[in-house]
Amino acid sequence: MRDVRAEFPTLQQEVHGKPLVYLDSAASTQQAQAVLDAVAAYGSRDHANVHRGVHTLSQRATQAFEDARADVARFLGASDPRGVVFTRGTTEGINLVAWSWGMANLGPGDAVVLTEMEHHSNIVPWQLVAERTGAELRVVPFDERGVLDLDVYAQQLDVRVKLVSMVHVSNALGTINPVKEMAAMAREVGARVLIDGAQGVVHGAVDVADLGCDFYAFSGHKIYAPTGIGVLWGRPELLDTMPPWHGGGEMIREVSFEQTTYADAPARFEAGTPNIGGAVGLAAAVRWMESVGIDAIAAHEAEVLAHGTAVLEAVDGLRIVGTAPDKAGVLSFVVDGVHPQDLGTLLDRYGVAVRTGHHCAQPALRRLGLTATTRASIAAYTTAADLDALGSGLERALRLLR
Ligand code: PMP
Repeated sequence: MRDVRAEFPTLQQEVHGKPLVYLDSAASTQQAQAVLDAVAAYGSRDHANVHRGVHTLSQRATQAFEDARADVARFLGASDPRGVVFTRGTTEGINLVAWSWGMANLGPGDAVVLTEMEHHSNIVPWQLVAERTGAELRVVPFDERGVLDLDVYAQQLDVRVKLVSMVHVSNALGTINPVKEMAAMAREVGARVLIDGAQGVVHGAVDVADLGCDFYAFSGHKIYAPTGIGVLWGRPELLDTMPPWHGGGEMIREVSFEQTTYADAPARFEAGTPNIGGAVGLAAAVRWMESVGIDAIAAHEAEVLAHGTAVLEAVDGLRIVGTAPDKAGVLSFVVDGVHPQDLGTLLDRYGVAVRTGHHCAQPALRRLGLTATTRASIAAYTTAADLDALGSGLERALRLLR
């Protein structure tokens, strides 16, 4: 893989007088210069509202927005860009499915299957919709390593299950779930499948056709793009059957006070002026990843992960949380007698940025008897030297804290 570090301006700085070692990419990646440039170029040359205008700038903005949709479709292995709905991020994508598809298709006696390692954004929307529809939630457990129990999953799947909604890669444990196999099992009972791809798109090529899912949600800010933009991909023919969930401009065919008819997908789900600059940035990020090579990024991250695992294993009293055989670039850990918050604060003093807390996955941590971990996470620009810096930062911090 080409050395990409120099392409990230934020990484070229010191924090507390120390070179920044950024290990919080699972929360938000930094933005590549190509992304920053694309957003600036759009904002300084082409910016106008989309879809409505006949004038040149509006047409350019519309073109940029729709080209972005096509780039994202290619990135996801989707043949039809109509399946790409722009959202604010993964959370909004899952809420869209819950409030539109869920409210229309779930009722008493129906069930939705989730896993025990879901991010709160793939739990709470289903609780809200289950409360209103009378549907039941079933939860697939995982073992000490963070591997889902597919035998229990198989038992949970019956004709009452209308949807399986699961995380592709766990942000708290790093587990890469066998989502293709799980989607195939769900289809056998006629259930729909939603994949939370917030961490999935980051760490390897995604092909929604091959995965066999109905919906795939992700966020731009996890793949080198700005915040406030994300995607819900859905099968276009399925999206067309779903009712709108936000009403407003752009999502209608015709409005009168007596009756309103709705546009087809994706416009039906994009009420109001969208985040055009964000979509341009997202498309630039996708093209940037393609230019580096998505498989090359995955291979690089796997190498750095293996190195980081060895570095952490050498730290006395440290335990890695999440040891599934199939793992992506997340290293969660706990240290005997040390609070993650204290550790994270000291590491920041040494220039090392990690995340501490429950990572919005409280049920997953509770399952392991924990309330918080420290998490180092990896992206294309992360190097073995970053993990070495974490290792020496930890040794130094732990001398003070223990
Ligand atoms: N799911 C997973 C697995 C995540 O890691 C995150 C972000 N931490 C989300 C969902 C939510 O993403 P967003 O906040 O961008 O909507």
